[in-house]
Amino acid sequence: MNINFNVCLLTFFLLFLTACQNKDPSKGLYQQQLFTFGTLIDISIVSDNSEQAKRAIDIISSEFDHLHTQWHPWKNGALGQLNKKFYDASSSSDTFTSPPSVIKLIQDSQLLSEQSNGLFNPAIGQLVKLWQFDQIENENYQFKIPDPEKIQQLLEKNPQMQDILINNEKITTNNAAIVLDFGAFAKGVAIEKMMSILKDQHIDNALINAGGDLKVLGSKNGKAWKIGIKNPAKTQNPSEKAIIAAIELNDNETLFTSGNYERFFEFQGKHYHHIIDPRTGYPAVGTQSVTVLTEDAALADAASTALFVAGPKLWAEIAKKMNVQYVMLISDDNKIYLTPAMAERIELLTDIKPVIVK
Ligand code: AMP
Ligand code: MG
Repeated sequence: MNINFNVCLLTFFLLFLTACQNKDPSKGLYQQQLFTFGTLIDISIVSDNSEQAKRAIDIISSEFDHLHTQWHPWKNGALGQLNKKFYDASSSSDTFTSPPSVIKLIQDSQLLSEQSNGLFNPAIGQLVKLWQFDQIENENYQFKIPDPEKIQQLLEKNPQMQDILINNEKITTNNAAIVLDFGAFAKGVAIEKMMSILKDQHIDNALINAGGDLKVLGSKNGKAWKIGIKNPAKTQNPSEKAIIAAIELNDNETLFTSGNYERFFEFQGKHYHHIIDPRTGYPAVGTQSVTVLTEDAALADAASTALFVAGPKLWAEIAKKMNVQYVMLISDDNKIYLTPAMAERIELLTDIKPVIVK
Protein backbone atom coordinates (compact mmCIF):
# COMPACT_ATOMS: atom_id res chain seq x y z
CA MET A 1 0.00 0.00 0.00
CA ASN A 2 1.30 3.41 -0.82
CA ILE A 3 2.57 6.00 1.58
CA ASN A 4 -0.30 8.39 0.83
CA PHE A 5 -2.77 5.86 2.05
CA ASN A 6 -0.86 5.34 5.28
CA VAL A 7 -0.69 9.08 5.78
CA CYS A 8 -4.44 9.22 5.25
CA LEU A 9 -5.02 6.55 7.89
CA LEU A 10 -2.76 8.27 10.35
CA THR A 11 -4.48 11.56 9.68
CA PHE A 12 -7.78 9.82 10.29
CA PHE A 13 -6.54 8.68 13.71
CA LEU A 14 -4.94 12.00 14.53
CA LEU A 15 -8.21 13.73 13.73
CA PHE A 16 -9.76 11.65 16.48
CA LEU A 17 -7.05 12.61 18.88
CA THR A 18 -7.25 16.35 18.34
CA ALA A 19 -9.84 18.82 19.55
CA CYS A 20 -12.23 17.56 22.15
CA GLN A 21 -15.14 19.00 20.30
CA ASN A 22 -15.22 19.90 16.68
CA LYS A 23 -17.95 20.56 14.21
CA ASP A 24 -17.00 20.66 10.56
CA PRO A 25 -20.00 22.28 8.86
CA SER A 26 -18.83 21.54 5.31
CA LYS A 27 -18.95 17.82 5.95
CA GLY A 28 -21.50 17.88 8.75
CA LEU A 29 -19.08 15.78 10.77
CA TYR A 30 -19.44 16.32 14.50
CA GLN A 31 -16.73 14.81 16.67
CA GLN A 32 -16.23 14.59 20.38
CA GLN A 33 -13.87 12.76 22.65
CA LEU A 34 -15.01 11.48 26.03
CA PHE A 35 -12.99 9.97 28.81
CA THR A 36 -15.27 7.39 30.32
CA PHE A 37 -15.50 3.64 30.86
CA GLY A 38 -11.81 3.78 31.81
CA THR A 39 -10.82 4.75 28.28
CA LEU A 40 -10.89 7.47 25.64
CA ILE A 41 -13.95 7.22 23.45
CA ASP A 42 -14.18 9.01 20.12
CA ILE A 43 -17.62 9.72 18.80
CA SER A 44 -18.12 10.86 15.22
CA ILE A 45 -21.59 11.80 14.06
CA VAL A 46 -22.47 12.81 10.53
CA SER A 47 -25.18 15.39 10.96
CA ASP A 48 -25.84 18.98 10.04
CA ASN A 49 -27.79 19.39 13.23
CA SER A 50 -25.18 20.08 15.89
CA GLU A 51 -27.84 20.37 18.62
CA GLN A 52 -29.07 16.88 17.82
CA ALA A 53 -25.50 15.53 17.82
CA LYS A 54 -24.66 17.28 21.10
CA ARG A 55 -27.79 15.96 22.77
CA ALA A 56 -26.99 12.40 21.71
CA ILE A 57 -23.41 12.70 22.96
CA ASP A 58 -24.58 14.05 26.33
CA ILE A 59 -26.93 11.09 26.79
CA ILE A 60 -24.20 8.65 25.76
CA SER A 61 -21.69 10.28 28.08
CA SER A 62 -23.84 9.97 31.17
CA GLU A 63 -24.91 6.44 30.22
CA PHE A 64 -21.25 5.33 29.78
CA ASP A 65 -20.39 6.88 33.18
CA HIS A 66 -23.31 5.10 34.80
CA LEU A 67 -22.51 1.72 33.24
CA HIS A 68 -18.84 2.05 34.13
CA THR A 69 -19.71 2.23 37.82
CA GLN A 70 -22.50 -0.34 37.62
CA TRP A 71 -20.40 -2.94 35.81
CA HIS A 72 -17.02 -2.32 37.40
CA PRO A 73 -15.86 -5.39 39.35
CA TRP A 74 -14.58 -3.43 42.39
CA LYS A 75 -16.25 -0.02 42.47
CA ASN A 76 -19.32 0.42 44.66
CA GLY A 77 -21.85 -0.25 41.87
CA ALA A 78 -24.13 -3.20 41.21
CA LEU A 79 -21.43 -5.65 40.10
CA GLY A 80 -18.97 -4.57 42.81
CA GLN A 81 -21.67 -5.20 45.43
CA LEU A 82 -22.50 -8.60 43.96
CA ASN A 83 -18.79 -9.55 43.94
CA LYS A 84 -18.53 -8.53 47.56
CA LYS A 85 -21.47 -10.82 48.36
CA PHE A 86 -19.77 -13.67 46.46
CA TYR A 87 -16.63 -13.11 48.53
CA ASP A 88 -18.48 -12.97 51.84
CA ALA A 89 -20.86 -15.86 51.13
CA SER A 90 -20.82 -18.42 53.90
CA SER A 91 -22.60 -21.22 52.10
CA SER A 92 -23.79 -22.30 48.68
CA SER A 93 -27.40 -21.74 49.69
CA ASP A 94 -26.86 -17.97 50.00
CA THR A 95 -29.03 -16.09 47.52
CA PHE A 96 -28.15 -12.75 45.95
CA THR A 97 -29.94 -10.17 43.91
CA SER A 98 -28.65 -7.75 41.31
CA PRO A 99 -30.26 -5.29 38.88
CA PRO A 100 -31.54 -6.60 35.51
CA SER A 101 -28.59 -5.12 33.60
CA VAL A 102 -26.15 -7.25 35.61
CA ILE A 103 -28.37 -10.35 35.38
CA LYS A 104 -28.39 -9.92 31.61
CA LEU A 105 -24.59 -9.55 31.49
CA ILE A 106 -24.30 -12.82 33.41
CA GLN A 107 -26.79 -14.69 31.26
CA ASP A 108 -25.43 -13.46 27.92
CA SER A 109 -21.87 -14.21 28.91
CA GLN A 110 -22.80 -17.70 30.15
CA LEU A 111 -23.76 -18.69 26.63
CA LEU A 112 -20.66 -17.11 25.05
CA SER A 113 -18.39 -18.64 27.67
CA GLU A 114 -19.81 -22.08 26.93
CA GLN A 115 -19.40 -21.58 23.17
CA SER A 116 -15.77 -20.57 23.71
CA ASN A 117 -15.03 -23.77 25.69
CA GLY A 118 -14.49 -21.53 28.73
CA LEU A 119 -11.62 -19.53 27.17
CA PHE A 120 -13.75 -16.40 27.55
CA ASN A 121 -14.50 -16.71 31.23
CA PRO A 122 -15.71 -13.68 33.21
CA ALA A 123 -15.89 -15.90 36.33
CA ILE A 124 -12.09 -15.70 36.78
CA GLY A 125 -12.34 -12.29 38.49
CA GLN A 126 -10.10 -13.42 41.36
CA LEU A 127 -7.39 -14.56 38.96
CA VAL A 128 -7.59 -11.29 37.03
CA LYS A 129 -7.31 -9.39 40.30
CA LEU A 130 -4.17 -11.31 41.32
CA TRP A 131 -2.40 -10.01 38.19
CA GLN A 132 -3.40 -6.38 38.95
CA PHE A 133 -3.16 -5.08 35.40
CA ASP A 134 -6.04 -2.74 36.27
CA GLN A 135 -3.55 -0.88 38.53
CA ILE A 136 -1.02 -0.23 35.79
CA GLU A 137 -1.88 3.46 35.42
CA ASN A 138 -1.47 4.11 39.15
CA GLU A 139 1.58 6.12 40.15
CA ASN A 140 2.66 3.59 42.77
CA TYR A 141 2.13 0.55 40.55
CA GLN A 142 4.74 -2.15 40.90
CA PHE A 143 4.55 -5.25 38.76
CA LYS A 144 4.68 -8.57 40.62
CA ILE A 145 4.13 -12.07 39.36
CA PRO A 146 1.38 -13.47 41.61
CA ASP A 147 2.18 -16.22 44.07
CA PRO A 148 2.04 -19.46 41.98
CA GLU A 149 0.32 -21.24 44.87
CA LYS A 150 -2.53 -18.74 44.85
CA ILE A 151 -2.90 -19.20 41.09
CA GLN A 152 -2.95 -22.97 41.56
CA GLN A 153 -5.58 -22.81 44.30
CA LEU A 154 -7.87 -20.77 42.06
CA LEU A 155 -7.32 -23.10 39.10
CA GLU A 156 -8.30 -26.06 41.25
CA LYS A 157 -11.53 -24.37 42.25
CA ASN A 158 -12.17 -23.91 38.51
CA PRO A 159 -14.75 -21.07 38.56
CA GLN A 160 -17.01 -21.22 35.50
CA MET A 161 -19.95 -19.07 34.37
CA GLN A 162 -22.06 -22.24 34.43
CA ASP A 163 -21.56 -22.41 38.22
CA ILE A 164 -23.91 -19.43 38.55
CA LEU A 165 -27.61 -20.23 38.68
CA ILE A 166 -30.27 -17.60 38.09
CA ASN A 167 -33.85 -18.24 39.03
CA ASN A 168 -36.46 -15.48 39.08
CA GLU A 169 -33.68 -12.89 39.35
CA LYS A 170 -32.19 -14.69 42.35
CA ILE A 171 -28.53 -15.59 41.98
CA THR A 172 -26.86 -18.57 43.64
CA THR A 173 -23.56 -20.37 43.14
CA ASN A 174 -22.02 -23.53 44.44
CA ASN A 175 -18.51 -22.34 43.60
CA ALA A 176 -16.90 -20.22 46.31
CA ALA A 177 -14.20 -18.95 43.89
CA ILE A 178 -16.64 -17.06 41.64
CA VAL A 179 -15.92 -13.36 41.19
CA LEU A 180 -17.12 -11.65 38.04
CA ASP A 181 -14.95 -9.44 35.84
CA PHE A 182 -16.58 -8.28 32.63
CA GLY A 183 -13.50 -6.44 31.35
CA ALA A 184 -13.59 -8.58 28.21
CA PHE A 185 -17.29 -8.04 27.51
CA ALA A 186 -18.77 -4.89 29.03
CA LYS A 187 -17.36 -2.51 26.43
CA GLY A 188 -19.06 -4.47 23.66
CA VAL A 189 -22.40 -4.50 25.48
CA ALA A 190 -22.05 -0.77 26.23
CA ILE A 191 -21.28 0.10 22.60
CA GLU A 192 -24.44 -1.75 21.50
CA LYS A 193 -26.41 0.38 23.98
CA MET A 194 -24.80 3.58 22.70
CA MET A 195 -25.72 2.70 19.16
CA SER A 196 -29.35 2.24 20.11
CA ILE A 197 -29.27 5.63 21.86
CA LEU A 198 -27.98 7.16 18.59
CA LYS A 199 -30.76 5.49 16.62
CA ASP A 200 -33.35 6.73 19.14
CA GLN A 201 -31.96 10.23 18.58
CA HIS A 202 -32.52 9.78 14.81
CA ILE A 203 -28.81 9.60 14.02
CA ASP A 204 -28.17 7.27 11.10
CA ASN A 205 -24.48 7.80 10.41
CA ALA A 206 -21.94 7.57 13.20
CA LEU A 207 -18.88 5.85 14.59
CA ILE A 208 -18.13 5.09 18.24
CA ASN A 209 -14.51 4.15 18.81
CA ALA A 210 -13.39 3.05 22.27
CA GLY A 211 -9.63 2.69 21.83
CA GLY A 212 -9.79 0.67 18.62
CA ASP A 213 -12.95 -1.25 19.57
CA LEU A 214 -15.69 0.30 17.52
CA LYS A 215 -19.03 0.14 15.81
CA VAL A 216 -20.44 2.13 12.91
CA LEU A 217 -23.86 3.24 11.77
CA GLY A 218 -24.54 4.08 8.14
CA SER A 219 -21.70 5.70 6.25
CA LYS A 220 -19.42 8.71 6.23
CA ASN A 221 -20.92 10.99 3.60
CA GLY A 222 -21.95 8.05 1.43
CA LYS A 223 -18.67 6.16 1.80
CA ALA A 224 -18.00 3.16 4.02
CA TRP A 225 -16.17 3.95 7.27
CA LYS A 226 -12.51 3.09 6.73
CA ILE A 227 -10.69 1.76 9.77
CA GLY A 228 -7.01 1.14 10.46
CA ILE A 229 -5.99 -1.85 12.60
CA LYS A 230 -3.02 -1.40 14.94
CA ASN A 231 0.18 -3.31 14.30
CA PRO A 232 0.91 -5.16 17.55
CA ALA A 233 4.61 -5.46 16.66
CA LYS A 234 4.93 -1.67 17.00
CA THR A 235 4.93 -2.02 20.81
CA GLN A 236 8.12 -4.11 20.78
CA ASN A 237 9.73 -2.40 17.83
CA PRO A 238 9.07 1.33 17.34
CA SER A 239 10.38 1.26 13.76
CA GLU A 240 7.41 -0.93 12.75
CA LYS A 241 4.41 0.61 10.99
CA ALA A 242 1.63 1.78 13.31
CA ILE A 243 -1.15 0.29 11.19
CA ILE A 244 -1.04 -3.27 9.84
CA ALA A 245 -4.31 -3.43 7.94
CA ALA A 246 -7.33 -1.44 6.83
CA ILE A 247 -10.93 -2.46 6.44
CA GLU A 248 -14.15 -0.81 5.37
CA LEU A 249 -17.14 -1.21 7.66
CA ASN A 250 -20.75 -1.11 6.53
CA ASP A 251 -23.86 -0.07 8.44
CA ASN A 252 -24.11 -1.79 11.83
CA GLU A 253 -20.74 -3.53 11.65
CA THR A 254 -18.38 -3.66 14.58
CA LEU A 255 -14.65 -4.37 14.88
CA PHE A 256 -13.00 -5.45 18.13
CA THR A 257 -9.34 -6.17 18.78
CA SER A 258 -7.78 -7.85 21.80
CA GLY A 259 -4.06 -7.13 21.90
CA ASN A 260 -1.10 -7.96 24.12
CA TYR A 261 -0.07 -4.29 23.87
CA GLU A 262 -3.12 -2.87 25.64
CA ARG A 263 -2.11 -3.48 29.26
CA PHE A 264 1.24 -5.07 29.82
CA PHE A 265 4.48 -5.03 31.73
CA GLU A 266 7.97 -6.05 30.63
CA PHE A 267 9.61 -7.91 33.49
CA GLN A 268 12.98 -9.68 33.41
CA GLY A 269 12.89 -9.79 29.63
CA LYS A 270 9.35 -11.20 29.44
CA HIS A 271 6.17 -9.55 28.24
CA TYR A 272 3.25 -10.00 30.68
CA HIS A 273 -0.17 -8.82 29.51
CA HIS A 274 -3.75 -8.60 30.74
CA ILE A 275 -5.45 -11.45 28.87
CA ILE A 276 -5.37 -14.48 31.13
CA ASP A 277 -5.59 -18.07 29.97
CA PRO A 278 -8.14 -19.65 32.35
CA ARG A 279 -6.44 -23.04 31.80
CA THR A 280 -3.05 -21.92 33.15
CA GLY A 281 -3.79 -18.82 35.23
CA TYR A 282 -1.02 -16.93 33.36
CA PRO A 283 -1.18 -14.45 30.45
CA ALA A 284 -2.18 -16.33 27.29
CA VAL A 285 0.72 -17.27 25.02
CA GLY A 286 1.00 -17.54 21.26
CA THR A 287 -0.98 -14.46 20.20
CA GLN A 288 -0.20 -10.77 19.74
CA SER A 289 -3.65 -9.65 18.64
CA VAL A 290 -7.02 -10.85 17.41
CA THR A 291 -9.46 -8.74 15.43
CA VAL A 292 -13.09 -9.80 15.00
CA LEU A 293 -15.70 -8.23 12.74
CA THR A 294 -19.39 -8.96 13.35
CA GLU A 295 -22.63 -7.02 13.69
CA ASP A 296 -22.89 -7.57 17.44
CA ALA A 297 -20.34 -5.68 19.54
CA ALA A 298 -20.96 -7.85 22.62
CA LEU A 299 -20.16 -10.99 20.63
CA ALA A 300 -17.14 -9.31 19.00
CA ASP A 301 -15.76 -8.34 22.41
CA ALA A 302 -16.18 -11.82 23.93
CA ALA A 303 -14.89 -13.54 20.81
CA SER A 304 -11.77 -11.40 20.38
CA THR A 305 -10.73 -12.29 23.95
CA ALA A 306 -11.62 -15.98 23.53
CA LEU A 307 -9.74 -16.33 20.23
CA PHE A 308 -6.73 -14.53 21.68
CA VAL A 309 -6.58 -17.17 24.42
CA ALA A 310 -7.28 -19.97 21.92
CA GLY A 311 -4.14 -18.99 20.01
CA PRO A 312 -2.85 -20.02 16.56
CA LYS A 313 -3.82 -23.71 16.89
CA LEU A 314 -7.34 -23.52 18.28
CA TRP A 315 -8.78 -20.17 17.16
CA ALA A 316 -10.51 -21.33 13.96
CA GLU A 317 -12.42 -24.08 15.79
CA ILE A 318 -13.58 -21.70 18.54
CA ALA A 319 -14.51 -19.03 15.97
CA LYS A 320 -16.88 -21.52 14.34
CA LYS A 321 -18.42 -22.44 17.69
CA MET A 322 -18.96 -18.75 18.46
CA ASN A 323 -20.38 -18.07 14.99
CA VAL A 324 -17.87 -15.45 13.97
CA GLN A 325 -16.87 -15.40 10.33
CA TYR A 326 -14.43 -12.51 10.09
CA VAL A 327 -11.23 -13.00 12.09
CA MET A 328 -7.59 -11.97 11.89
CA LEU A 329 -5.09 -13.41 14.38
CA ILE A 330 -1.48 -12.23 14.56
CA SER A 331 0.67 -14.78 16.34
CA ASP A 332 3.74 -14.27 18.53
CA ASP A 333 5.91 -15.38 15.62
CA ASN A 334 4.41 -12.65 13.40
CA LYS A 335 2.21 -14.88 11.26
CA ILE A 336 -1.10 -13.45 10.10
CA TYR A 337 -4.00 -15.90 10.13
CA LEU A 338 -7.28 -14.99 8.40
CA THR A 339 -10.64 -16.66 7.90
CA PRO A 340 -11.56 -16.85 4.19
CA ALA A 341 -14.27 -14.20 4.73
CA MET A 342 -11.77 -11.81 6.37
CA ALA A 343 -9.22 -12.44 3.59
CA GLU A 344 -11.81 -11.17 1.08
CA ARG A 345 -12.32 -7.88 2.87
CA ILE A 346 -9.17 -6.88 4.66
CA GLU A 347 -6.43 -4.81 3.07
CA LEU A 348 -3.08 -5.86 4.56
CA LEU A 349 -0.48 -3.07 4.70
CA THR A 350 2.45 -5.43 5.15
CA ASP A 351 4.49 -7.84 3.05
CA ILE A 352 3.69 -10.74 5.37
CA LYS A 353 1.76 -13.37 3.41
CA PRO A 354 -1.33 -14.37 5.38
CA VAL A 355 -2.27 -17.96 6.22
CA ILE A 356 -5.90 -18.53 5.34
CA VAL A 357 -7.60 -21.04 7.61
CA LYS A 358 -10.93 -22.65 6.69
P1 AMP B 1 -10.19 -7.66 26.16
O1 AMP B 1 -9.30 -6.49 26.09
O2 AMP B 1 -11.57 -7.43 25.65
O3 AMP B 1 -9.59 -8.90 25.56
O4 AMP B 1 -10.44 -7.98 27.72
C1 AMP B 1 -9.39 -8.15 28.62
C2 AMP B 1 -9.90 -7.94 30.03
O5 AMP B 1 -10.85 -8.97 30.35
C3 AMP B 1 -8.82 -8.05 31.09
O6 AMP B 1 -8.32 -6.77 31.44
C4 AMP B 1 -9.56 -8.69 32.27
O7 AMP B 1 -10.30 -7.72 32.97
C5 AMP B 1 -10.55 -9.61 31.58
N1 AMP B 1 -10.03 -10.95 31.23
C6 AMP B 1 -8.74 -11.37 31.14
N2 AMP B 1 -8.67 -12.63 30.69
C7 AMP B 1 -9.96 -13.05 30.48
C8 AMP B 1 -10.56 -14.25 30.00
N3 AMP B 1 -9.83 -15.31 29.64
N4 AMP B 1 -11.91 -14.31 29.93
C9 AMP B 1 -12.67 -13.24 30.29
N5 AMP B 1 -12.17 -12.08 30.74
C10 AMP B 1 -10.83 -11.97 30.82
MG1 MG C 1 -12.98 -8.63 24.71
